[in-house]
Amino acid sequence: MEKWMEQLQNRVNTLHRLKAYIHVTPEEEKAILTLNTQWGATPYFASLMDPNDSACPIRKQVVPSLKEMNPAHDTPRSLSSKENGGAQEVRPASIVQKVHDRAAFSVIDTCAVYCRHCFRKAQGMTEKPRLRRDVEEGLEWIADHEEIRDVLITGGDPFVLSDEKIEYLVRKLRETPHIRMIRFGTRLPIVLPQRITRGLLKVLGGFHRVPVWVSTQCNHPREITGKTGRAVFDLLRSGVNVSNQAVLLRGINDDVNTFTALHQKLLTVRIRPYTVFHCASAPGIDHFRTPVEKGLRLIRDGLRGHTTGLAQPIYVTGTRKPKGCTAGCTDGRRHRAPKPLKRTPLE
Ligand code: SF4
Repeated sequence: MEKWMEQLQNRVNTLHRLKAYIHVTPEEEKAILTLNTQWGATPYFASLMDPNDSACPIRKQVVPSLKEMNPAHDTPRSLSSKENGGAQEVRPASIVQKVHDRAAFSVIDTCAVYCRHCFRKAQGMTEKPRLRRDVEEGLEWIADHEEIRDVLITGGDPFVLSDEKIEYLVRKLRETPHIRMIRFGTRLPIVLPQRITRGLLKVLGGFHRVPVWVSTQCNHPREITGKTGRAVFDLLRSGVNVSNQAVLLRGINDDVNTFTALHQKLLTVRIRPYTVFHCASAPGIDHFRTPVEKGLRLIRDGLRGHTTGLAQPIYVTGTRKPKGCTAGCTDGRRHRAPKPLKRTPLE
């Protein structure tokens, strides 16, 4: 069995296994025993946790917390707004989003790590990595929509699929004449870099009319290791571009030093910072949320004019700007945007 598959089989998803990695606090133990929630991490990612610090940024993304019991948002409405809920057109459920010429295509309901800040954790995931039943319908829908030029293959995490299944998806999309690029949304270069095998590189890489891009998710500089660097190097050498889509998370990366260090360190392993997502509302994740203005301030105080222009992600709030608000929020309040950013000649 390949090493990455062993990692998936031996996920750290029981109290007993977790205790081999960290000193579990009474609160963490209570959360694991009382919350009816799916959780777990690869042994590799679990090994990056600080065994003695419950505030460790990796630990907080992996280990359930009692704070998840205090949702402040209406569950059905929060979730339907994220997954195809507002669409006028009837689409296969695997087409989770369509924006102009792009579609997000969910092909699997399994992840290697169940992030505590993910809205999908409330929807339930399966443990077995297999293609969703509605994948064929999704491929047909994409073939019928000639305006779609860019498909984001997402999940769950599509890289937990076998090479054969990934090859099938890439081939079907490359055979669709209007598709110009394929993106994979995957955390595996960060949480399971062992997945970037020769077999996978053969499937994704090489010169082709329709390039493959990888959008990964790294939220803290401590998630980046030598293994990350090697995996990304191998992807790039095969012709696969790698960018990052971070999530702004309270207590994890919402201070200027960490935010700057994250974006600088991403570049040292050749990952291009692409977006920072404002953590949207969903059941059980309110304790990770920051005000929208926080992201604007972090970019102003930590990135723009402070470091290279390559380390400047787009801030995505996922909200429409209401009348009167200058900061891009939709909660009905009026906010003042931070002062304009100064540009330097070196950006
Ligand atoms: S890997 Fe992505 S889809 Fe899976 S739990 Fe984490 S954020 Fe959610």
